[in-house]
Amino acid sequence: MNKTSELKKIEPKAEILSLSSGIRNRIRPVTYSPPFETLLEKIEETKSNNLYFYMRVLETASGAEVIVDGRRMIMLGSNNYLGLTVHPKVKRATIRAIEQYGTGASGSRVLSGTHRLHVQLEEKLAELKNAEAAAVFSTGYITNMAAVSILAELGYTLINDDKNHASIIDGCRIQDAEVYFYRHNNMKHLKKVLERPQKDSTKCFIITDGVFSMDGDIADLSSILLLARQHGAKVYLDDAHALGVLGKHGRGTAEHCNVEGQVNLTVGTLSKALGSAGGFIAGSKDFITYLKHASRAFMFGTAMPPSIAATAIAALDVLEKEPEHLERLHQNTKEVRDGLRDMGFEVPLNETPILPVIIGDEMRTYALTRLLHEAGVFVNPVAYPAVKPGKARIRVSTNALLTSQQIGSALTAFKQAGKSLGLI
Ligand code: PMP
Repeated sequence: MNKTSELKKIEPKAEILSLSSGIRNRIRPVTYSPPFETLLEKIEETKSNNLYFYMRVLETASGAEVIVDGRRMIMLGSNNYLGLTVHPKVKRATIRAIEQYGTGASGSRVLSGTHRLHVQLEEKLAELKNAEAAAVFSTGYITNMAAVSILAELGYTLINDDKNHASIIDGCRIQDAEVYFYRHNNMKHLKKVLERPQKDSTKCFIITDGVFSMDGDIADLSSILLLARQHGAKVYLDDAHALGVLGKHGRGTAEHCNVEGQVNLTVGTLSKALGSAGGFIAGSKDFITYLKHASRAFMFGTAMPPSIAATAIAALDVLEKEPEHLERLHQNTKEVRDGLRDMGFEVPLNETPILPVIIGDEMRTYALTRLLHEAGVFVNPVAYPAVKPGKARIRVSTNALLTSQQIGSALTAFKQAGKSLGLI
């Protein structure tokens, strides 16, 4: 292979964001990938120093514990917030659906791939989000790409929180969209962007994550909705990490902020708290009908297997009828968060199960991951470009399956590893 032909243009994310704060920014369809050889060399170096902890192979279901390389580990790094991937009712519903509908959908939703379970799931999701209709896609990533790019094509200006998920940003890049960024959760700055001179804010979508995936903090949705109303703008919420997690009944950020039914478009994923796979968008009947007939991802991709839809339907049922999983998730989150903070780690006071342990330096972050791995605790290191340079972290995420004993053992491992590296 000719390696030079593999070289990709670098456009660091941080640069784009600083360039773009409040200034109109046409994002070109470039990638953030580093040059081919540089990346491979870095991977090799990290592996040879025994500091590479990506793509570890799990030999069991992702539960409170997993087996990796034959060793049992406590799982503090999955998005299985409610533990539903291993819930007996959810598993049974999935198996039954395979027996009844087979293994694959065998067609795109528009042609031969729409099964009764897809329709049922969309109805359930629309109801959950107080919306007229919903569309299900095969991943959450594709859902954002499809919906955001369609909004751009329809001529909407897209106003983004600068920590929005990659799939939203990539959706902005498909079209030659008019895109602005406001500083993370900063309402003063959002107001300034909405009030930029000679612009009509009524053909705008403010786009925000509900729970930010790398920091675990929550969008100030009430203020965003207020500003949107004042300026005639619309609101697009990505609730991937909030569904099943926030609000008394786990219905997400809008329930948490007491503003249900006020968001114009809500995206969610079925792959995290619901223990399934796929994504959805809920909104007005007209927009969803348009999306289903105009989105290339919806039209030209095979539908998710019906059994996957059955998993999500069963998980929504459990969410409604068994509040104990959500209660347990919050208890476990508090226990882990307070434990880490008490021993001196820099962890924000998050209400969500995403608990970033900020280390700063990338190599020290990998070194901590290694010590934890050796002690039987599975956590994920996150570094640039997923977060800004110098903001590397261990992204701890809790789940409802963990027992107090498992949490205690994981915290002991954190204490020993943190001390031996001089981090606490
Ligand atoms: N939005 C956000 C905020 C996410 O964190 C993710 C997944 N990391 C997605 C969308 C994509 O969802 P999925 O993993 O289901 O493709």
